[in-house]
Amino acid sequence: MAVQKELDFSIHYGDPAVTGGLSVFSPEFDRAFAYTGNDLGVTYASSASAFRLWAPTASEVALALYTDAETDEARFIAMRRSTMGTWQAEVAEDLKGMFYTYRVKIGDTWNEACDPYAKAVGINGDRAAILNLAETDPEGWNDRMPPFRSPVDAVIYELHVRDLSSHPHSGVVNRGKFLGVGEAGIRSTNGILSGLDHVASLGVTHIQFLPIFDYSTESVDERFPEQSYNWGYDPKNYNAPEGSYASDPFDPAARIREMKQMVQALHDRGLRVIMDVVYNHVYDGYRIHFTKLVPGYYFRYREDGTLSDGAFCGNEVASERFMVRKYIVESILYWAREYRIDGFRFDLMGLLDVGTMQEIRSRLDEIDPSILVIGEGWHMDCGIPDEMRASQRNADRLPRIGQFNDHMRNAIKGSHYHHIEHGFVDGGIHLEQEVRAGAAGAVRYREDVRSYATEPDQCVNYVECHDNYTLWDKLEVTNGYEEEELDAMHRLASGMVMTSQGIAFLHAGQEFMRTKNHVENSYRSLDPINWLDWDRCAERQADVEYMRTLITLRRSHPAFRLRSAKEIRNHLHFEEAPDGTVAFTLREHAGGDSSRHLYVVYHGRKDKVELKLPALGTWEPLFVTDGRSTVLDNKLVLDGIAMAVLEVVD
Ligand code: CA
Repeated sequence: MAVQKELDFSIHYGDPAVTGGLSVFSPEFDRAFAYTGNDLGVTYASSASAFRLWAPTASEVALALYTDAETDEARFIAMRRSTMGTWQAEVAEDLKGMFYTYRVKIGDTWNEACDPYAKAVGINGDRAAILNLAETDPEGWNDRMPPFRSPVDAVIYELHVRDLSSHPHSGVVNRGKFLGVGEAGIRSTNGILSGLDHVASLGVTHIQFLPIFDYSTESVDERFPEQSYNWGYDPKNYNAPEGSYASDPFDPAARIREMKQMVQALHDRGLRVIMDVVYNHVYDGYRIHFTKLVPGYYFRYREDGTLSDGAFCGNEVASERFMVRKYIVESILYWAREYRIDGFRFDLMGLLDVGTMQEIRSRLDEIDPSILVIGEGWHMDCGIPDEMRASQRNADRLPRIGQFNDHMRNAIKGSHYHHIEHGFVDGGIHLEQEVRAGAAGAVRYREDVRSYATEPDQCVNYVECHDNYTLWDKLEVTNGYEEEELDAMHRLASGMVMTSQGIAFLHAGQEFMRTKNHVENSYRSLDPINWLDWDRCAERQADVEYMRTLITLRRSHPAFRLRSAKEIRNHLHFEEAPDGTVAFTLREHAGGDSSRHLYVVYHGRKDKVELKLPALGTWEPLFVTDGRSTVLDNKLVLDGIAMAVLEVVD
């Protein structure tokens, strides 16, 4: 019953007589049908279940009740028209264990769809499930984590649920599952720490999961998850977890309970959870429940009537519309409350509108102001005006929302659109100013060192994430496979991220120089490309230890985590350095057991450089690359690609 792509207005967007002549595309439609209640979806009690659907353009609506997720036999209950375009039904029975959909008549067409507000779904998310949410809480399910001190204290580790444990040597029992993430006391076949124990040992503060909400069956069929792999940027049901990560995808409660168990396992170790959320597009703009229920409303369109496609995924969600914004905001609040989620990462945030992101920030503040909000603030072509896009250009109006700093990323390792382009760490030229801007957390440090951020908590510094080549692969592609200096380049790149102002972000496996064998976009490559290779991790324990030391360095020195642009301007001083080298001091920043002054230098070339140290006291090495750096009196000599951090001791 898919809506056809050749759309005839009167048939496919409904009979205007139903809405009093209002077109679904008009601003008046938003005003006429702005439903503000909080009871959309099903409200379950053992005595009765109440259903409310928002479908202003429907002329008739029926609730279809099913005894299971796959049977064709339904029991239909007519829904009655209610306020602001909503439809209601109440069933005075205990419906626990039942499944449902809505059937709506739009024009002359009957469409059947899953409830967009479903919090529980059956196999492959085609039908909503009725259950008692309280019964999905795991044993010992506690309240939220205590507030996190400051966003810039965060060291985020980006991970795919399945990648953590799918390798045959991971030592994890529930490989590829939510439950596998939480397994403790795990050793890989090589005897090293594995799974969550390994991640926790690094000292990161937040784990950011690639999509764990329900994504499309075409990406991963929940009945046969081993047959395919996907990152999951293909939303199907925004408020239910993905079934392929559950021990039993047919049991609607299992995916909910097990995702909560995963959150609980992380919280028990002091790790916080960030969800990667993808409200900017859906898997299929024509077949999604939104379009079946209220065709035309939820997406942006071009003038010729085709779907606008800023996401390059076939469609673009119209976040600025009243009921869409309401949907997104309530979805976020639901995950934060029900699953105790500690942060959200917005995919292609630049396609969402500023107002929606502001409302998300302020509504999350009512729960816990330390819930992190970060996003991809790329300023992309899309169906809303420039000034409405939640992008880097409008960062001034998006306070306390972090944005990925692609300028620093590209400066460090070179553009991933031009594979032969060198970055700072492999000898690239004219990148020093961009590196300085990134080191200063992208704030307006001074006229010639500035970027998009107003405050450092708006800057997420990183050099690698799930997209594009891993850092290792990029360096290899650009420099040749035999390049002996790849390790030094890679280490310098991670060191730059960890000593820069702003929020620090790592990709899983970056600590053992993850490779995807030069697969640039592994979104649906099979496990052997995407998994964390625990054999490589075992071989590269020295690199893992290097990352641990870096994270400890960052976390033990508040000077790397200055709270405001003002503090950065006051305490960070760029020092004289030759080309290919960036040096700065962090001065007079007391706090914790931090040294009074720190000197940081990045050297991205193979030559030998001599740097004069500022006369602030006696400099001693705090973090240096063995064999490549020498401190002598007031001079530092760096021989080859390296980073050094010195401190004044007195
Ligand atoms: Ca799914």
